[in-house]
Amino acid sequence: MQNRRKFLQSSLIGSAAVIGGASFAEDRPGRIQSNAGNPIVISTWDFGKAANAAAWEVLSKNGSALDAVEAGVRVPEADPENQSVGYGGLPDRDGRVTLDACIMDAQYRCGSVMCIEHIKHPISVARLVMEKTPHIVLVGEGALEFALANGFQKENLLTESSKKAWQEWLKSSDYKPGINIENKLYKKETDPMPGGKDNHDTIGMLSLDAKGDIAGACTTSGLAFKMHGRVGDSPIIGAGLYVDNEVGGATSTGLGEEVIRIVGSHLVVELMRQGLSPENACKEAVSRILKRSPQKAKEIQVGFLAINKKGEYGAYALQKGFSYAVHSNKEVTLIPGKSHF
Ligand code: ASP
Repeated sequence: MQNRRKFLQSSLIGSAAVIGGASFAEDRPGRIQSNAGNPIVISTWDFGKAANAAAWEVLSKNGSALDAVEAGVRVPEADPENQSVGYGGLPDRDGRVTLDACIMDAQYRCGSVMCIEHIKHPISVARLVMEKTPHIVLVGEGALEFALANGFQKENLLTESSKKAWQEWLKSSDYKPGINIENKLYKKETDPMPGGKDNHDTIGMLSLDAKGDIAGACTTSGLAFKMHGRVGDSPIIGAGLYVDNEVGGATSTGLGEEVIRIVGSHLVVELMRQGLSPENACKEAVSRILKRSPQKAKEIQVGFLAINKKGEYGAYALQKGFSYAVHSNKEVTLIPGKSHF
């Protein structure tokens, strides 16, 4: 048994080395040495900067990674200017704002809400699902009922500008739930992005606290003008977010259907367990998407972001334009993610 385990482990390492092309001689597979004492938070896209600042408030006072990621992602959730997360998110094709969110801590505890309406902070409902129920996922009406029973307020999340964008889209009602490549595809005069400035973008946040524990959160309004009931990768544990406190955490953004197919965030964490750096693990996940459909990959965006137990981080996307924000004692910065194209 011991030999078989050893064999499996070494063959996994071998394949990881070939796949990722990375040199990771310094990394021992399995448990990665911790970075305790040096808290850090990272998150997707430019709006991650403000979110990180809120998370840092928690981390810098010795707070937990779990509290930090919840506090962090609540910032874009509450921002009416942000049309891809929480309040102000672009609605589905029926004009309903439906939100997806999940959260995961250092003990494999996790909670998720999918297609929840009228609640500004789905991440906090996801956390309650994790803490107050024996379940992991609540959806739609059930998630809303649970939130209301726990003191959340029912609100109208459709802002005037998101309503306008939807009304603009209704004129053609062209069902094209792709992902704009950071607006470039849709900036063409012949094919303008209807109304909104972004038809996607999720905040995925990962944090390592002073104790060395990792937690993550992910929250989105998903694809603009999607079918009612459509759920992407973001609230799916393993797809949009995964944390393994022995190894690290990962999160994703972009066309959720492609991320779900490869269980992207879990894949990234497992690749880090085998010894890949966060960036190379993200790159390998992106290359799985490319391999499956090289043509489609040219027209969509998917990005992964990861951190390991040592506090090393990295990202990789299909297209240019993906960015991520980092906040630690050493740096407060926004980094352009590397990309395949
Ligand atoms: N991943 C999200 C979804 O598919 C959208 C995004 O992050 O851009 O719903």
